[in-house]
Amino acid sequence: MSEKIYMDYNASAPLRPEALALMQDVLTESGNASSVHSFGRKARSRIERAREQISALIGTQPNQLVFTSGATESNNTVLSAFRGQRILVSAIEHPSVLESAPAAEKIPVTQDGLQEGLQEGLIDEQAFINLLEKGEPPALISIMLVNNETGAIQPVEKLARLAKKRHPAIFIHTDAVQAAGRIKIDMPALQVDYLSLSAHKMGGPQGVGALITAPGSKPVKLLYGGGQEKRQRAGTENVAGIAGFGMAADIAQHDIENFQKLALLRDKMEENLSAITPHLRVFSKDAPRIANTSAIGLSGLSAETLIMALDLAGIAVSSGAACSSGTVKPSHVLQAMGACDDETMGAFRISIGWDTKECHIDRLIEECSKIFERTTTTAEKTDHA
Ligand code: PMP
Repeated sequence: MSEKIYMDYNASAPLRPEALALMQDVLTESGNASSVHSFGRKARSRIERAREQISALIGTQPNQLVFTSGATESNNTVLSAFRGQRILVSAIEHPSVLESAPAAEKIPVTQDGLQEGLQEGLIDEQAFINLLEKGEPPALISIMLVNNETGAIQPVEKLARLAKKRHPAIFIHTDAVQAAGRIKIDMPALQVDYLSLSAHKMGGPQGVGALITAPGSKPVKLLYGGGQEKRQRAGTENVAGIAGFGMAADIAQHDIENFQKLALLRDKMEENLSAITPHLRVFSKDAPRIANTSAIGLSGLSAETLIMALDLAGIAVSSGAACSSGTVKPSHVLQAMGACDDETMGAFRISIGWDTKECHIDRLIEECSKIFERTTTTAEKTDHA
């Protein structure tokens, strides 16, 4: 059996070996970071080092960062703190934003990439301005920096400026999970008040994240109890996880240029797949996009069939549709971009990363062409039967 190939980095990136080695060390160390003895002080220093490393990745001061159990917790905390007030969220947010603000008004995104060159899947600026100018000023706006399904990079800085110019008291949150370590982030320049991060999308461990708050913005409290994280988030810290997060952030920051080179592999893959099947659509193809993500729609072939066939061949990619409690739902992101049901059900996502090599792309192309050939031949045979 040939080497297994992982191409689902946006779901969870493989742990960086350096993060794993550090975490193994930290897991063997005793001590609660709140204790004053030498063991506690060592644990504390592990946490503070990570706080510095992650803050450096996004251009903020370490005292602005609170560690969480992941971006779901960070997103939930911010959105819940504004419950009962007017909230605007983009229509393509992660469920951890959408479901913690069910009454929020949705900002639409640009649609229909069938027109060559149209930048689809980006916040519709005019619709955004209309929402800002209608009714009472929103208390909170939440717009993700990079979409997890398409990789489209949203113009958060521009939108934040537009909003704050009209309503200076507005608070802005960005879910930067899929952006961190992949494009350069300067949180002060983005003009946002809150920013969510997750360690496992950048080669750190699962179950650790962060919420960063701009100076002077309304503090949002996470968990109640002990005095950890300056009383903002009670509970004994996950020292090993936090240390691994810090290491992954540090490596990602220094590797950001290499990450951009993944666009060469992505483009090669998209070109080759388009050549072997004419019924292929790359969502947000002409929008600003991060280097590692391709959301691909195939009409006439179910994504589930393709994903299962690739899995049998040892290649892991993801479905563009969300599967929860056994039922496959069409992706709300692709729907917001105007894709029809046939396209969303035939959508799949390939997301690559730090350990992807050109030979992996070649294998993917080879396996896809075998699968396409098989399914087309079967369809043709059925047609003639
Ligand atoms: N936001 C986005 C954009 C994501 O892709 C994810 C992970 N799927 C999350 C939030 C949730 O992150 P976590 O797994 O750390 O809770």
